[in-house]
Amino acid sequence: MPEALRLKGQGASPGSARGPAHVMAPEDGHALGVRANGSDAARLVAAVERAVEDLRALAGRSDLESAAILEFQIEMLRDPALLEPSLERIQRGAEAGTAWAATMDAYVASFEEAEDEHIRARGADMRDIRQQVLRALHGERPPDFPKGAILVGRDIAPSLFLSHDWSQGGAIALFGGSVASHVATLARSRGVPMVVGVPRADIETGMELVVDGDEGTVEDGRAVPPSAAAVQGASAMPASMGGSAVTPDEVPLRTADGVRLTVQANIDHPSELRHLSPAGLDGIGLFRTEYLMGSAADLADEERQVEVYADMLAWAGGRPVTIRLLDFGADKPPPGEAVDPSSFLGLRGIRLLLARPDVLRTQVRALLRAAPAGQLRVLLPMVTAPSELEQTRTVFAEEAARLAARGVPHAMPPLGLMVEVPAAALMPEAFDAAFFSFGTNDLAQYLSASARDNAAVSPLYAAAHVAVLRFLAMTVPVVAATGRPVGICGDLAGDPGALPALLACGLRDFSMAPRRMTLARAALSRLNADGSEARG
Ligand code: PEP
Ligand code: MG
Repeated sequence: MPEALRLKGQGASPGSARGPAHVMAPEDGHALGVRANGSDAARLVAAVERAVEDLRALAGRSDLESAAILEFQIEMLRDPALLEPSLERIQRGAEAGTAWAATMDAYVASFEEAEDEHIRARGADMRDIRQQVLRALHGERPPDFPKGAILVGRDIAPSLFLSHDWSQGGAIALFGGSVASHVATLARSRGVPMVVGVPRADIETGMELVVDGDEGTVEDGRAVPPSAAAVQGASAMPASMGGSAVTPDEVPLRTADGVRLTVQANIDHPSELRHLSPAGLDGIGLFRTEYLMGSAADLADEERQVEVYADMLAWAGGRPVTIRLLDFGADKPPPGEAVDPSSFLGLRGIRLLLARPDVLRTQVRALLRAAPAGQLRVLLPMVTAPSELEQTRTVFAEEAARLAARGVPHAMPPLGLMVEVPAAALMPEAFDAAFFSFGTNDLAQYLSASARDNAAVSPLYAAAHVAVLRFLAMTVPVVAATGRPVGICGDLAGDPGALPALLACGLRDFSMAPRRMTLARAALSRLNADGSEARG
Protein backbone atom coordinates (compact mmCIF):
# COMPACT_ATOMS: atom_id res chain seq x y z
CA MET A 1 0.00 0.00 0.00
CA PRO A 2 1.46 3.43 -0.84
CA GLU A 3 2.50 5.51 2.15
CA ALA A 4 -0.31 7.85 3.27
CA LEU A 5 0.19 11.47 2.33
CA ARG A 6 1.37 13.67 5.23
CA LEU A 7 2.72 17.08 4.28
CA LYS A 8 4.30 19.46 6.75
CA GLY A 9 4.06 23.17 6.14
CA GLN A 10 3.59 26.17 8.42
CA GLY A 11 0.34 26.85 10.23
CA ALA A 12 -1.01 30.26 9.15
CA SER A 13 -4.44 30.03 10.78
CA PRO A 14 -5.33 27.60 13.59
CA GLY A 15 -8.02 24.95 13.74
CA SER A 16 -8.56 21.82 11.70
CA ALA A 17 -10.97 20.85 8.95
CA ARG A 18 -11.69 17.83 6.79
CA GLY A 19 -13.11 17.95 3.29
CA PRO A 20 -12.63 17.18 -0.40
CA ALA A 21 -9.68 18.87 -2.07
CA HIS A 22 -10.32 21.46 -4.72
CA VAL A 23 -7.11 21.93 -6.69
CA MET A 24 -6.99 25.38 -8.24
CA ALA A 25 -6.26 25.61 -11.94
CA PRO A 26 -3.08 27.52 -12.86
CA GLU A 27 -3.81 31.21 -13.30
CA ASP A 28 -3.19 31.69 -16.98
CA GLY A 29 -6.27 30.34 -18.70
CA HIS A 30 -6.73 33.46 -20.81
CA ALA A 31 -6.22 33.58 -24.53
CA LEU A 32 -3.64 36.34 -24.49
CA GLY A 33 -2.74 37.95 -27.77
CA VAL A 34 -6.19 37.45 -29.35
CA ARG A 35 -7.45 40.74 -30.74
CA ALA A 36 -11.01 41.78 -29.94
CA ASN A 37 -13.15 44.57 -31.34
CA GLY A 38 -12.47 48.14 -30.26
CA SER A 39 -9.28 49.97 -29.42
CA ASP A 40 -7.01 47.98 -27.13
CA ALA A 41 -6.25 51.03 -25.03
CA ALA A 42 -9.95 51.77 -24.48
CA ARG A 43 -10.68 48.11 -23.70
CA LEU A 44 -7.91 47.99 -21.11
CA VAL A 45 -9.01 51.24 -19.42
CA ALA A 46 -12.61 49.94 -19.32
CA ALA A 47 -11.48 46.58 -17.89
CA VAL A 48 -9.51 48.29 -15.13
CA GLU A 49 -12.59 50.38 -14.31
CA ARG A 50 -14.78 47.24 -14.23
CA ALA A 51 -12.32 45.53 -11.90
CA VAL A 52 -12.40 48.60 -9.61
CA GLU A 53 -16.22 48.56 -9.61
CA ASP A 54 -16.30 44.84 -8.79
CA LEU A 55 -13.89 45.40 -5.90
CA ARG A 56 -15.96 48.31 -4.62
CA ALA A 57 -19.09 46.14 -4.71
CA LEU A 58 -17.29 43.36 -2.82
CA ALA A 59 -15.95 45.89 -0.28
CA GLY A 60 -19.50 47.16 0.23
CA ARG A 61 -20.59 43.66 1.30
CA SER A 62 -17.52 43.13 3.52
CA ASP A 63 -16.52 44.08 7.04
CA LEU A 64 -14.09 46.90 7.79
CA GLU A 65 -10.96 44.74 7.79
CA SER A 66 -11.77 43.07 4.48
CA ALA A 67 -12.79 46.39 2.94
CA ALA A 68 -9.39 47.83 3.92
CA ILE A 69 -7.63 45.03 2.05
CA LEU A 70 -9.81 45.55 -1.00
CA GLU A 71 -9.19 49.29 -0.79
CA PHE A 72 -5.44 48.51 -1.04
CA GLN A 73 -6.13 46.65 -4.29
CA ILE A 74 -8.28 49.48 -5.63
CA GLU A 75 -5.48 51.96 -4.90
CA MET A 76 -3.02 49.72 -6.75
CA LEU A 77 -5.38 49.40 -9.74
CA ARG A 78 -5.67 53.17 -9.93
CA ASP A 79 -1.90 53.60 -9.78
CA PRO A 80 -0.71 55.05 -13.12
CA ALA A 81 2.49 53.00 -12.65
CA LEU A 82 0.46 49.97 -13.72
CA LEU A 83 -1.71 51.42 -16.46
CA GLU A 84 0.84 53.65 -18.21
CA PRO A 85 3.44 50.98 -19.08
CA SER A 86 0.58 48.78 -20.33
CA LEU A 87 -0.71 51.57 -22.59
CA GLU A 88 2.83 52.12 -23.87
CA ARG A 89 3.04 48.42 -24.74
CA ILE A 90 -0.27 48.76 -26.61
CA GLN A 91 1.12 51.75 -28.53
CA ARG A 92 4.03 49.56 -29.57
CA GLY A 93 1.52 47.06 -30.99
CA ALA A 94 0.65 44.72 -28.11
CA GLU A 95 -2.89 43.45 -27.54
CA ALA A 96 -4.61 44.74 -24.35
CA GLY A 97 -4.41 41.49 -22.33
CA THR A 98 -0.84 40.75 -23.36
CA ALA A 99 0.22 44.29 -22.48
CA TRP A 100 -1.45 44.17 -19.04
CA ALA A 101 -0.11 40.68 -18.26
CA ALA A 102 3.45 41.69 -19.22
CA THR A 103 3.32 44.78 -16.98
CA MET A 104 1.85 42.86 -14.08
CA ASP A 105 4.26 39.92 -14.42
CA ALA A 106 7.19 42.29 -13.99
CA TYR A 107 5.44 43.83 -10.96
CA VAL A 108 4.56 40.51 -9.35
CA ALA A 109 8.17 39.33 -9.83
CA SER A 110 9.54 42.45 -8.13
CA PHE A 111 7.26 41.80 -5.11
CA GLU A 112 8.01 38.10 -4.98
CA GLU A 113 11.77 38.65 -5.13
CA ALA A 114 11.72 41.09 -2.19
CA GLU A 115 13.72 40.02 0.85
CA ASP A 116 11.08 41.29 3.21
CA GLU A 117 8.31 38.74 3.83
CA HIS A 118 5.65 41.42 4.26
CA ILE A 119 6.40 42.84 0.79
CA ARG A 120 6.65 39.33 -0.73
CA ALA A 121 3.21 38.58 0.72
CA ARG A 122 1.71 41.53 -1.20
CA GLY A 123 2.66 39.62 -4.38
CA ALA A 124 -0.59 37.67 -3.92
CA ASP A 125 -2.55 40.93 -4.13
CA MET A 126 -0.72 41.89 -7.30
CA ARG A 127 -1.45 38.51 -8.92
CA ASP A 128 -5.08 38.95 -7.84
CA ILE A 129 -5.25 42.35 -9.57
CA ARG A 130 -3.62 40.90 -12.72
CA GLN A 131 -6.28 38.22 -12.97
CA GLN A 132 -9.21 40.52 -12.18
CA VAL A 133 -8.39 42.82 -15.08
CA LEU A 134 -7.79 39.88 -17.47
CA ARG A 135 -11.16 38.41 -16.46
CA ALA A 136 -12.85 41.78 -17.00
CA LEU A 137 -11.23 42.00 -20.47
CA HIS A 138 -12.59 38.59 -21.40
CA GLY A 139 -15.98 39.04 -19.74
CA GLU A 140 -15.39 36.09 -17.40
CA ARG A 141 -16.88 35.58 -13.96
CA PRO A 142 -14.56 35.28 -10.93
CA PRO A 143 -13.71 31.67 -10.03
CA ASP A 144 -15.17 29.95 -6.98
CA PHE A 145 -15.05 26.43 -5.52
CA PRO A 146 -17.51 24.17 -3.70
CA LYS A 147 -18.51 25.08 -0.14
CA GLY A 148 -16.74 23.01 2.50
CA ALA A 149 -13.84 22.14 0.16
CA ILE A 150 -10.14 22.32 1.01
CA LEU A 151 -8.64 24.79 -1.42
CA VAL A 152 -5.24 23.56 -2.66
CA GLY A 153 -2.93 25.65 -4.80
CA ARG A 154 0.10 27.86 -5.02
CA ASP A 155 -1.60 30.85 -3.41
CA ILE A 156 -5.11 32.23 -3.03
CA ALA A 157 -6.27 35.67 -4.05
CA PRO A 158 -7.79 37.84 -1.28
CA SER A 159 -10.79 38.58 -3.52
CA LEU A 160 -11.43 34.84 -3.93
CA PHE A 161 -11.21 34.31 -0.17
CA LEU A 162 -13.68 37.15 0.42
CA SER A 163 -16.21 36.15 -2.20
CA HIS A 164 -16.28 32.48 -1.11
CA ASP A 165 -18.92 31.26 1.36
CA TRP A 166 -17.01 29.65 4.27
CA SER A 167 -20.13 28.92 6.34
CA GLN A 168 -19.94 25.21 5.49
CA GLY A 169 -16.34 24.94 6.72
CA GLY A 170 -13.35 24.23 4.51
CA ALA A 171 -9.69 25.16 4.75
CA ILE A 172 -6.71 26.31 2.72
CA ALA A 173 -3.50 24.41 1.90
CA LEU A 174 -0.90 26.30 -0.12
CA PHE A 175 2.35 25.25 -1.76
CA GLY A 176 3.40 28.90 -1.54
CA GLY A 177 1.66 31.56 0.53
CA SER A 178 2.83 33.33 3.66
CA VAL A 179 1.74 33.69 7.27
CA ALA A 180 2.05 37.45 6.67
CA SER A 181 -0.36 37.58 3.71
CA HIS A 182 -3.68 39.37 3.74
CA VAL A 183 -5.45 36.05 3.26
CA ALA A 184 -3.70 34.61 6.35
CA THR A 185 -4.95 37.58 8.40
CA LEU A 186 -8.47 37.09 7.09
CA ALA A 187 -8.36 33.33 7.67
CA ARG A 188 -7.31 33.83 11.28
CA SER A 189 -10.08 36.26 12.02
CA ARG A 190 -12.72 34.06 10.38
CA GLY A 191 -11.51 30.77 11.86
CA VAL A 192 -10.62 29.21 8.50
CA PRO A 193 -7.74 26.73 9.07
CA MET A 194 -4.81 27.47 6.79
CA VAL A 195 -1.38 25.93 6.16
CA VAL A 196 1.26 27.53 3.92
CA GLY A 197 4.59 26.35 2.48
CA VAL A 198 3.37 22.78 1.96
CA PRO A 199 5.71 20.67 -0.24
CA ARG A 200 4.24 20.10 -3.72
CA ALA A 201 2.47 16.75 -3.93
CA ASP A 202 0.13 14.79 -6.12
CA ILE A 203 -3.24 15.94 -4.84
CA GLU A 204 -6.30 15.55 -7.01
CA THR A 205 -9.61 17.38 -6.79
CA GLY A 206 -12.04 15.30 -4.73
CA MET A 207 -9.38 13.58 -2.60
CA GLU A 208 -10.33 13.80 1.09
CA LEU A 209 -7.86 15.91 3.09
CA VAL A 210 -7.44 16.94 6.71
CA VAL A 211 -5.80 20.33 7.27
CA ASP A 212 -4.49 21.12 10.74
CA GLY A 213 -3.57 24.78 11.10
CA ASP A 214 -2.19 24.29 14.62
CA GLU A 215 0.23 21.54 13.55
CA GLY A 216 0.82 22.97 10.07
CA THR A 217 -0.04 19.65 8.39
CA VAL A 218 -2.05 18.44 5.41
CA GLU A 219 -2.95 14.73 5.46
CA ASP A 220 -4.82 12.19 3.42
CA GLY A 221 -8.25 11.99 5.12
CA ARG A 222 -8.30 8.18 4.80
CA ALA A 223 -5.31 7.95 7.16
CA VAL A 224 -6.79 10.26 9.81
CA PRO A 225 -9.74 8.99 11.86
CA PRO A 226 -12.47 11.61 12.25
CA SER A 227 -11.72 13.30 15.57
CA ALA A 228 -13.72 15.65 17.74
CA ALA A 229 -11.26 18.42 16.92
CA ALA A 230 -11.63 18.02 13.15
CA VAL A 231 -15.40 17.99 13.39
CA GLN A 232 -15.33 20.98 15.72
CA GLY A 233 -13.05 22.88 13.36
CA ALA A 234 -15.40 22.37 10.47
CA SER A 235 -18.70 22.96 12.17
CA ALA A 236 -18.05 25.66 14.72
CA MET A 237 -16.67 28.11 12.18
CA PRO A 238 -17.63 31.63 13.19
CA ALA A 239 -18.36 32.15 9.51
CA SER A 240 -18.12 35.88 9.30
CA MET A 241 -19.34 35.37 5.77
CA GLY A 242 -22.70 34.18 6.96
CA GLY A 243 -23.11 31.55 9.69
CA SER A 244 -25.30 31.14 12.72
CA ALA A 245 -24.60 32.85 16.03
CA VAL A 246 -22.35 30.97 18.46
CA THR A 247 -24.26 30.77 21.72
CA PRO A 248 -22.45 28.70 24.33
CA ASP A 249 -25.25 26.96 26.18
CA GLU A 250 -25.06 28.03 29.75
CA VAL A 251 -23.81 31.08 31.59
CA PRO A 252 -22.70 31.06 34.41
CA LEU A 253 -20.35 28.13 34.17
CA ARG A 254 -19.31 26.11 37.25
CA THR A 255 -16.84 23.30 37.82
CA ALA A 256 -18.32 19.91 38.74
CA ASP A 257 -17.79 20.81 42.43
CA GLY A 258 -19.57 24.14 42.05
CA VAL A 259 -16.81 26.74 41.70
CA ARG A 260 -17.80 29.65 39.46
CA LEU A 261 -15.68 30.12 36.32
CA THR A 262 -15.82 32.83 33.67
CA VAL A 263 -15.35 32.22 29.96
CA GLN A 264 -14.78 35.30 27.84
CA ALA A 265 -14.13 35.73 24.13
CA ASN A 266 -10.93 36.69 22.31
CA ILE A 267 -11.91 38.91 19.40
CA ASP A 268 -9.63 39.83 16.50
CA HIS A 269 -12.13 41.96 14.61
CA PRO A 270 -15.47 43.58 15.54
CA SER A 271 -17.18 41.78 12.62
CA GLU A 272 -16.91 38.56 14.69
CA LEU A 273 -19.50 39.95 17.11
CA ARG A 274 -22.21 39.55 14.47
CA HIS A 275 -21.96 35.80 15.04
CA LEU A 276 -21.83 35.85 18.83
CA SER A 277 -24.49 36.37 21.42
CA PRO A 278 -23.35 38.54 24.36
CA ALA A 279 -25.72 36.58 26.60
CA GLY A 280 -23.59 33.47 26.02
CA LEU A 281 -20.38 35.09 27.26
CA ASP A 282 -18.95 36.52 30.45
CA GLY A 283 -17.51 39.35 28.39
CA ILE A 284 -14.70 40.02 25.94
CA GLY A 285 -11.42 39.05 27.56
CA LEU A 286 -9.16 40.26 24.74
CA PHE A 287 -9.82 42.49 21.76
CA ARG A 288 -6.67 42.59 19.60
CA THR A 289 -6.89 46.08 18.12
CA GLU A 290 -4.00 45.69 15.66
CA TYR A 291 -6.22 43.98 13.06
CA LEU A 292 -8.42 47.10 12.95
CA MET A 293 -5.63 49.08 11.37
CA GLY A 294 -5.47 48.52 7.63
CA SER A 295 -3.51 51.66 6.83
CA ALA A 296 -1.46 54.41 8.44
CA ALA A 297 -4.55 56.64 8.10
CA ASP A 298 -6.51 54.24 10.33
CA LEU A 299 -3.93 54.70 13.10
CA ALA A 300 -4.63 58.42 13.15
CA ASP A 301 -8.42 58.08 12.87
CA GLU A 302 -9.55 58.74 16.44
CA GLU A 303 -13.24 59.03 15.56
CA ARG A 304 -13.32 55.60 13.91
CA GLN A 305 -11.68 54.04 16.97
CA VAL A 306 -14.15 55.74 19.34
CA GLU A 307 -17.02 54.35 17.28
CA VAL A 308 -15.65 50.79 17.15
CA TYR A 309 -14.86 50.66 20.89
CA ALA A 310 -18.15 52.27 21.96
CA ASP A 311 -20.13 49.90 19.70
CA MET A 312 -18.36 46.93 21.25
CA LEU A 313 -19.08 48.17 24.78
CA ALA A 314 -22.75 48.75 23.93
CA TRP A 315 -22.94 45.27 22.34
CA ALA A 316 -21.59 43.70 25.55
CA GLY A 317 -24.48 45.22 27.52
CA GLY A 318 -22.54 45.96 30.70
CA ARG A 319 -20.32 42.87 30.59
CA PRO A 320 -16.58 43.61 30.81
CA VAL A 321 -14.79 44.37 27.55
CA THR A 322 -11.00 44.19 27.66
CA ILE A 323 -9.40 46.13 24.85
CA ARG A 324 -5.68 45.68 24.33
CA LEU A 325 -3.48 48.58 23.29
CA LEU A 326 -1.93 48.03 19.85
CA ASP A 327 0.47 45.08 19.99
CA PHE A 328 2.49 45.93 16.89
CA GLY A 329 5.94 44.57 16.12
CA ALA A 330 7.51 41.34 14.91
CA ASP A 331 4.91 39.34 12.92
CA LYS A 332 2.33 42.15 13.18
CA PRO A 333 4.07 45.27 11.84
CA PRO A 334 2.28 48.62 11.87
CA PRO A 335 0.44 49.11 8.55
CA GLY A 336 2.77 49.77 5.65
CA GLU A 337 5.87 48.67 7.57
CA ALA A 338 7.96 45.55 7.14
CA VAL A 339 7.80 42.41 9.26
CA ASP A 340 10.80 42.50 11.58
CA PRO A 341 11.27 39.14 13.31
CA SER A 342 14.03 40.63 15.47
CA SER A 343 11.46 42.87 17.15
CA PHE A 344 10.03 39.86 19.01
CA LEU A 345 12.85 40.83 21.37
CA GLY A 346 12.92 44.48 20.46
CA LEU A 347 10.42 47.31 20.00
CA ARG A 348 7.08 45.51 20.22
CA GLY A 349 3.81 46.03 22.10
CA ILE A 350 3.99 48.71 24.77
CA ARG A 351 7.67 49.34 23.97
CA LEU A 352 6.78 50.36 20.42
CA LEU A 353 3.80 52.45 21.54
CA LEU A 354 5.89 54.42 24.02
CA ALA A 355 8.35 55.06 21.17
CA ARG A 356 5.47 56.28 18.94
CA PRO A 357 3.54 58.59 21.27
CA ASP A 358 1.30 59.91 18.46
CA VAL A 359 -0.13 56.43 17.82
CA LEU A 360 -0.46 55.69 21.56
CA ARG A 361 -2.11 59.03 22.36
CA THR A 362 -4.69 58.67 19.57
CA GLN A 363 -5.70 55.24 20.85
CA VAL A 364 -5.72 56.41 24.48
CA ARG A 365 -8.03 59.34 23.64
CA ALA A 366 -10.37 57.03 21.74
CA LEU A 367 -10.50 54.59 24.69
CA LEU A 368 -11.12 57.39 27.22
CA ARG A 369 -13.94 58.76 25.07
CA ALA A 370 -15.55 55.33 24.52
CA ALA A 371 -15.27 54.26 28.17
CA PRO A 372 -18.62 55.75 29.36
CA ALA A 373 -20.41 53.35 26.95
CA GLY A 374 -19.81 50.29 29.14
CA GLN A 375 -17.42 48.39 31.38
CA LEU A 376 -14.09 48.98 29.66
CA ARG A 377 -10.78 47.50 30.82
CA VAL A 378 -7.53 48.27 29.00
CA LEU A 379 -4.77 45.71 28.61
CA LEU A 380 -1.09 46.60 28.00
CA PRO A 381 0.84 44.13 25.77
CA MET A 382 4.36 42.88 26.40
CA VAL A 383 5.07 44.79 29.58
CA THR A 384 8.45 44.05 31.14
CA ALA A 385 9.07 46.80 33.68
CA PRO A 386 6.81 48.81 36.05
CA SER A 387 8.00 52.06 34.42
CA GLU A 388 6.19 51.06 31.19
CA LEU A 389 2.87 50.81 33.04
CA GLU A 390 3.51 54.11 34.83
CA GLN A 391 4.45 55.98 31.63
CA THR A 392 1.27 54.66 29.98
CA ARG A 393 -0.79 55.71 33.00
CA THR A 394 0.68 59.20 32.71
CA VAL A 395 -0.37 59.34 29.05
CA PHE A 396 -3.93 58.32 30.05
CA ALA A 397 -3.98 61.01 32.79
CA GLU A 398 -2.65 63.72 30.45
CA GLU A 399 -5.10 62.91 27.68
CA ALA A 400 -7.99 62.73 30.17
CA ALA A 401 -7.05 66.18 31.47
CA ARG A 402 -7.01 67.53 27.88
CA LEU A 403 -10.43 66.04 27.16
CA ALA A 404 -11.76 67.49 30.41
CA ALA A 405 -10.42 70.92 29.48
CA ARG A 406 -12.31 70.69 26.19
CA GLY A 407 -15.46 69.46 27.93
CA VAL A 408 -15.37 66.11 26.06
CA PRO A 409 -17.15 63.29 27.97
CA HIS A 410 -14.77 60.49 28.97
CA ALA A 411 -13.97 58.02 31.78
CA MET A 412 -10.74 56.47 33.09
CA PRO A 413 -10.62 52.67 32.54
CA PRO A 414 -8.64 50.28 34.77
CA LEU A 415 -5.23 49.40 33.28
CA GLY A 416 -4.17 45.75 33.34
CA LEU A 417 -1.11 43.80 32.27
CA MET A 418 -0.62 41.03 29.73
CA VAL A 419 1.65 38.60 31.57
CA GLU A 420 3.68 37.34 28.64
CA VAL A 421 7.25 38.33 29.47
CA PRO A 422 8.65 35.95 32.12
CA ALA A 423 10.23 38.85 34.05
CA ALA A 424 6.80 40.41 34.66
CA ALA A 425 5.32 37.08 35.75
CA LEU A 426 8.02 36.71 38.39
CA MET A 427 7.56 40.13 40.03
CA PRO A 428 3.86 41.04 39.70
CA GLU A 429 3.84 42.90 43.03
CA ALA A 430 6.10 45.52 41.42
CA PHE A 431 3.27 46.53 39.07
CA ASP A 432 0.37 48.68 40.20
CA ALA A 433 -1.94 46.96 37.70
CA ALA A 434 -5.71 46.68 38.15
CA PHE A 435 -5.71 43.13 36.71
CA PHE A 436 -3.44 40.56 35.05
CA SER A 437 -4.00 38.29 32.06
CA PHE A 438 -1.54 35.51 31.14
CA GLY A 439 -0.60 35.54 27.43
CA THR A 440 0.75 32.05 27.02
CA ASN A 441 1.39 32.33 23.26
CA ASP A 442 4.21 34.75 23.91
CA LEU A 443 5.15 33.29 27.27
CA ALA A 444 5.87 30.02 25.44
CA GLN A 445 8.14 31.70 22.89
CA TYR A 446 10.01 33.72 25.49
CA LEU A 447 10.44 30.69 27.76
CA SER A 448 11.60 28.43 24.91
CA ALA A 449 13.64 31.06 23.00
CA SER A 450 11.75 29.90 19.87
CA ALA A 451 9.99 32.50 17.69
CA ARG A 452 6.31 31.57 17.44
CA ASP A 453 6.17 32.12 13.65
CA ASN A 454 9.38 30.29 12.74
CA ALA A 455 8.62 26.84 11.31
CA ALA A 456 12.24 25.74 11.85
CA VAL A 457 11.85 25.92 15.65
CA SER A 458 8.14 25.11 15.98
CA PRO A 459 8.90 21.65 17.50
CA LEU A 460 10.87 23.42 20.27
CA TYR A 461 8.02 25.89 20.81
CA ALA A 462 5.61 22.96 21.13
CA ALA A 463 7.98 21.01 23.37
CA ALA A 464 7.94 23.88 25.86
CA HIS A 465 4.29 23.06 26.69
CA VAL A 466 5.20 21.23 29.90
CA ALA A 467 7.58 23.99 30.95
CA VAL A 468 4.88 26.61 30.33
CA LEU A 469 2.40 24.73 32.54
CA ARG A 470 5.05 24.37 35.24
CA PHE A 471 5.86 28.08 34.98
CA LEU A 472 2.15 28.90 35.36
CA ALA A 473 1.91 26.63 38.41
CA MET A 474 4.72 28.67 39.96
CA THR A 475 3.61 32.15 38.96
CA VAL A 476 -0.22 32.19 38.91
CA PRO A 477 -0.31 31.96 42.74
CA VAL A 478 2.32 34.72 42.96
CA VAL A 479 0.22 36.98 40.73
CA ALA A 480 -3.00 36.04 42.57
CA ALA A 481 -1.29 36.98 45.86
CA THR A 482 -1.31 40.62 44.71
CA GLY A 483 -5.06 40.49 45.35
CA ARG A 484 -5.80 41.68 41.80
CA PRO A 485 -7.96 39.67 39.35
CA VAL A 486 -5.95 37.24 37.22
CA GLY A 487 -6.99 35.39 34.06
CA ILE A 488 -5.57 33.75 30.97
CA CYS A 489 -6.11 34.76 27.32
CA GLY A 490 -3.42 32.79 25.46
CA ASP A 491 -4.41 29.84 23.25
CA LEU A 492 -3.82 27.41 26.14
CA ALA A 493 -7.02 28.75 27.75
CA GLY A 494 -9.10 27.01 25.06
CA ASP A 495 -7.09 23.77 24.97
CA PRO A 496 -9.13 21.02 26.69
CA GLY A 497 -5.91 19.07 27.33
CA ALA A 498 -4.41 21.93 29.34
CA LEU A 499 -7.52 22.86 31.36
CA PRO A 500 -6.94 20.44 34.30
CA ALA A 501 -3.48 21.95 34.84
CA LEU A 502 -4.78 25.52 34.46
CA LEU A 503 -7.51 24.93 37.05
CA ALA A 504 -4.93 23.34 39.35
CA CYS A 505 -2.83 26.54 39.06
CA GLY A 506 -5.80 28.46 40.44
CA LEU A 507 -7.01 30.06 37.20
CA ARG A 508 -10.76 30.76 37.11
CA ASP A 509 -11.07 33.31 34.29
CA PHE A 510 -10.51 31.94 30.76
CA SER A 511 -10.62 33.95 27.54
CA MET A 512 -10.46 32.13 24.21
CA ALA A 513 -11.40 32.18 20.52
CA PRO A 514 -15.19 31.78 20.25
CA ARG A 515 -14.90 28.59 18.16
CA ARG A 516 -13.11 26.86 21.07
CA MET A 517 -15.72 27.72 23.71
CA THR A 518 -18.15 24.84 23.35
CA LEU A 519 -15.52 22.14 23.87
CA ALA A 520 -13.66 24.07 26.57
CA ARG A 521 -16.83 24.79 28.56
CA ALA A 522 -17.84 21.13 28.37
CA ALA A 523 -14.37 20.08 29.58
CA LEU A 524 -14.35 22.63 32.43
CA SER A 525 -17.77 21.55 33.68
CA ARG A 526 -16.54 17.94 33.99
CA LEU A 527 -13.56 18.93 36.15
CA ASN A 528 -13.28 19.83 39.80
CA ALA A 529 -11.73 23.17 40.76
CA ASP A 530 -8.43 21.43 41.61
CA GLY A 531 -8.29 20.09 38.04
CA SER A 532 -9.20 16.51 38.94
CA GLU A 533 -11.83 14.60 36.90
CA ALA A 534 -15.23 14.62 38.59
CA ARG A 535 -16.48 11.15 39.45
CA GLY A 536 -19.50 9.59 37.74
C1 PEP B 1 -0.56 35.73 23.95
O1 PEP B 1 0.59 36.11 23.70
O2 PEP B 1 -0.81 34.66 24.56
C2 PEP B 1 -1.72 36.53 23.49
C3 PEP B 1 -2.94 36.25 23.88
O3 PEP B 1 -1.49 37.57 22.67
P1 PEP B 1 -1.15 37.44 21.11
O4 PEP B 1 -1.40 36.02 20.70
O5 PEP B 1 -2.03 38.41 20.43
O6 PEP B 1 0.29 37.82 21.08
MG1 MG C 1 0.97 38.11 23.09
